[in-house]
Amino acid sequence: MSLSISGIPDDIVRTLADRLMGTCDNLQRVFDSLGVEIPDGFEIEDVISDLEVISVERCPGSQWWMESCELVDDDLNDVGCPSCRPNCPEESGDE
Ligand SMILES: [Zn+2]
Repeated sequence: MSLSISGIPDDIVRTLADRLMGTCDNLQRVFDSLGVEIPDGFEIEDVISDLEVISVERCPGSQWWMESCELVDDDLNDVGCPSCRPNCPEESGDE
């Protein structure tokens, strides 16, 4: 039984997430490559909602898919992925 919004089995949603993470792939194209179809009566937006449930979202700026937690700053503001943010001075590379 699936609890997903789009009617797609949870394991397929996970597989989609794995494929998408760290890419800017088109969701429909990933569907095609997996040979999966969106169930009748559902839209690609429903699948996007399912991905959000498992914390996978698309950066509104660069369109890259990543974990939701990577798209917010420490105060949970929606700031986009690290490469879309204004340069952050507190980023330190040295230990
Ligand atoms: Zn971005």
